[in-house]
Amino acid sequence: MSIEERLNYINGVQDFINCTSSKIQDTLSALGWNASELKYTDVNNAQCPFDRGHWMPSEKLPAHIEICALKKEGYSGSETLLPPSCGNEKYAIKIDSETRKQVLRSAFSANPRLKLGSFQLSLLIL
Ligand SMILES: [Zn+2]
Repeated sequence: MSIEERLNYINGVQDFINCTSSKIQDTLSALGWNASELKYTDVNNAQCPFDRGHWMPSEKLPAHIEICALKKEGYSGSETLLPPSCGNEKYAIKIDSETRKQVLRSAFSANPRLKLGSFQLSLLIL
């Protein structure tokens, strides 16, 4: 490649860079954003560990994680998990295996997105 061909190639690349930069500036301007400010606005944002496409202010991450984890398991965002037993057997409700299966079967038929682990497989087989 001759010197003249190289200079033409470099000029073409520079034109492409200038054109692309102009398009980026136009897009940022249309959105009301400023490129120099964008560099510093993401400092306090946090990424969801369950969905890498979810970003939010760091202080909102703990509440988001609870809801997002439930949604990943098939629950709706409005459902909450009950806390584990307090350890006092006297006040614990005991459910036999068959009743537990019926409850899970009923919940699964009401919401087929619900993830039940290995029990889900037995529902599909039966
Ligand atoms: Zn998330």
